[in-house]
Amino acid sequence: MEKGDGLLIVLSGPSGAGKGTLCRELLRLEPNLQYSVSATTRQPRPAEVEGVHYFFRTKAEFEEMIAKGELLEWAEFCGNYYGTPIFGVEQALTAGKDVILEIETQGALQVKKRSPHGLFIFVAPPSLKALSERIHKRGTEAEDVIARRLATARQEINLLTEYDYVVVNDEVPAAVHKLRSIIVAEKCRVERNRFLFKEEHS
Ligand code: 5GP
Repeated sequence: MEKGDGLLIVLSGPSGAGKGTLCRELLRLEPNLQYSVSATTRQPRPAEVEGVHYFFRTKAEFEEMIAKGELLEWAEFCGNYYGTPIFGVEQALTAGKDVILEIETQGALQVKKRSPHGLFIFVAPPSLKALSERIHKRGTEAEDVIARRLATARQEINLLTEYDYVVVNDEVPAAVHKLRSIIVAEKCRVERNRFLFKEEHS
């Protein structure tokens, strides 16, 4: 953590909890925030654009990225690989931008080990029933994939205590307000501001 570095924000939690919606809202409201585009071996959904939503890669290409150490973290989630390219994150943080990663829990725990100064926020659904309804309503996955995602969600919820904050996403505006408040408070931490007045003292 150097003076002027941006804040690394990890938004994690089960698929269907609404991380994507919250992330989009934050990006709309916070001009200094940059989204980290992940790589995945999953097939693109109809409206998804290469380089905007994901970098869509073959399994071989993804494994090469792992081998070359190009990923800050990566995980296998419901049969596909997902990972965060390290380059974009480092470049943005050094330029003073805050960076947001929207990732599942195994990856978030890897980031916590490598970058303990990050801000780790768990986005929770109001209930598992609500989560199931949301994933069905989204209509982007087949029934067997939904069942797998729900089973994974139960495991992910057990990792809640590894995070700094939890935001229950029952109402989007309220959840966004909580996220923005958390980010503001985090930036005011003494640990992040120990450079204050340094020049004047020396
Ligand atoms: P989806 O297939 O619905 O886009 O994503 C499935 C899950 O993978 C979601 O929980 C999403 O947040 C997570 N995910 C997306 N990108 C990454 C990544 O780069 N790393 C990890 N570990 N998880 C990711």
